[in-house]
Amino acid sequence: MKTWKLWENERINEEETRLLRRRADEIPVPFDDEGKRDIETLIDAFVGRDDAAGLAAPQIGISKRVVVFKNGQFNERGPLQKGGGQYDVLVNPRITQIRGDTEKGQEGCLSCPDISADVVRATSIKVKAYDEKGNKINRRYTGFLARVVQHELDHLDGKLIVDRGTAIYFPKEKAPFFDKIFKDA
Ligand SMILES: [Zn+2]
Repeated sequence: MKTWKLWENERINEEETRLLRRRADEIPVPFDDEGKRDIETLIDAFVGRDDAAGLAAPQIGISKRVVVFKNGQFNERGPLQKGGGQYDVLVNPRITQIRGDTEKGQEGCLSCPDISADVVRATSIKVKAYDEKGNKINRRYTGFLARVVQHELDHLDGKLIVDRGTAIYFPKEKAPFFDKIFKDA
């Protein structure tokens, strides 16, 4: 499935940027048919790829508040399997607690090809959400997973690593394009 991107081949994607920058809508609870379909579509899109730690619905053109990411059960050596408990789905998620320190780490994003950015994130968060079946859940995430969750939840508010990055990295040969984009940032 196609991933929506801010730019591609050194050209800004105006239409995709508009959706990626939008605040995504909540999924009605209990989930309606459309909500259930959107959640399934996101899970299928994520399970079918191996180049991402997580995926948010706006990244596949669905402006809804749902994200999916590999959880602590994921085994790096095997493929991600549907329904195998190797990923978490968070519907209408809300961070209810931020604890501990912050940490700087380098992040990439399928929606921001060719760049990476240093982003400061909290190392421990608590999230309230619904799982893919509509059950209420409360989870704590720490370390790398806390980073992934904060990254994915940012997507639901139209925020990307280019907004959060304290430093942005890209290959030298693409400098003419990216220098122009980040000049005013
Ligand atoms: Zn991302």
